[in-house]
Amino acid sequence: MEDRREELRRRIAALGFDDVRFVAAGPLAGEGLRSWLDAGMHGEMEWMQRTAEKRLDPAQVLAGARTVIMLGVNYWAGRLAAGPATWARYALNEDYHDTMKPALVQAGLALEEIYGAAGGDYRWYVDTGPVLERSWAARAGLGFVGKNAMLISRRHGNWLFLASILTRVAIAPDEPIRKKTSDATVGLLCGKCTRCLDACPTGAFPQPGVVDARRCISYQTIENKGIIPREFRSAIGQRIYGCDVCLEVCPWNRFAQQGRQLLLTSRRDIVQLSLAEILALTPARFAEIFRRTAIKRLKLGGLLRNACIVAGNSGDTALLPQLAELAGHGLPMVRAHAVWAARKLGGGAQLAAARETETDPAVLEEYAAVGVG
Ligand code: SF4
Ligand code: SF4
Repeated sequence: MEDRREELRRRIAALGFDDVRFVAAGPLAGEGLRSWLDAGMHGEMEWMQRTAEKRLDPAQVLAGARTVIMLGVNYWAGRLAAGPATWARYALNEDYHDTMKPALVQAGLALEEIYGAAGGDYRWYVDTGPVLERSWAARAGLGFVGKNAMLISRRHGNWLFLASILTRVAIAPDEPIRKKTSDATVGLLCGKCTRCLDACPTGAFPQPGVVDARRCISYQTIENKGIIPREFRSAIGQRIYGCDVCLEVCPWNRFAQQGRQLLLTSRRDIVQLSLAEILALTPARFAEIFRRTAIKRLKLGGLLRNACIVAGNSGDTALLPQLAELAGHGLPMVRAHAVWAARKLGGGAQLAAARETETDPAVLEEYAAVGVG
C-alpha cells in the first residue's frame, strides 16, 4: 500500500509538481465559505455561490470520491526588476491553467497504472474546478492557511499554484502540519505577525484569513468586468493586474527557492511594457502579446481600464494626450477611467471634445464626479 502511494508521489513529482500530498475526501464543515458568501464577500463572482455545495463535498463533484490528491507548483522565480507597472507574479508566465494540463493528464495515467484505476475514477482540476483548494491543501499538510488567506508551504512560502485530483481510489492520507488542523485553523504558524493584514492597500481583510473580494485589488483588476469603484483607484497605485502585497510581505517566503519551472513558461518580458505602449494597444497587438497568458481573459478593454488607473497614479503628465484619446474609446468602461486618470494628472481642457459627445450615464457621472463640465 505504502509503496504504491510513494511510487505515485514520485511519479507525479517527476512531472514537475513540487509537492504531492494525499488526504481523505469527505464533506467539509465549510463555515468559512458559507459565512463569506452570506456576507456577499464574493462580489459578483456568483459562480462561487452557485457551486458552493459542490465545493464543500467532493462526492458531489465525483460520486464515490475517496481521496483528494493535492499538488503544488512553486512559481517563485527570483526578484523582479521594477517596471512601469506592477503585475501579479503568477501572471508573468504562460497561463498555468494550460501549461499544467498535460502534466495532470500524465498524473492521471500514473494513477491508472499504479492503482489500476479507470479513466472515470478520477478528475483533475486547476483553479477553476469546484474544489476548495486551500482547505484541502491544508488538510493534506501541504502547508497552512496564513492570515493572508494564502496556503503557505514551509518549504516554498506562498508562491505556490495549487491543483487537485479527486479520485475514487483510497490512498492512505498524509498528515496535516498539526493533527488537529481543520480548514478553519487560520494563521497556524503566523504567531504574532500581522504584516499582511497591515500592508493591504485597501483594507481587504475583515478578519485574519478572510479576504473581502470586493475590496481586494486582485478582484477589482481581474474579476470586476466593469467600473472599478473610485474609492480604490488611488490605492491600486501601479498594480495593473492582480496584487501580491499580502504575499510579498510574508516572512515565510524567506525559505522560497527558485522553482524548477518544469510546468511554467516565463513571460517576464511583460514587465518591460511601458504605460504608453499599453495605453496604445490595438486588439491585434494585445492578442499578440498576451495570447498565451492568463491576462488575455481580461480582454483589451479590461487592461486599458486598469492601465488608465495606473497612468492616473503615475504622475506622468506626458500620458495626458493618450488619456484624452481614450476618453473617446468605444467602451464606456475605458472612457470613464480615462476621464478619472486625466483629471488625476491635472488635465481637464484635454477632455472638452470627448465630454461634448458623451451620452453614457456612467461616464457622465464620472465627469461630474471629477468636476468636468
Ligand atoms: S491581494 Fe492585495 S488587495 Fe487583495 S488582500 Fe492581498 S494585499 Fe489586499
Ligand atoms: S505575513 Fe505574517 S501574519 Fe501574514 S501570513 Fe505571513 S506570517 Fe502570517
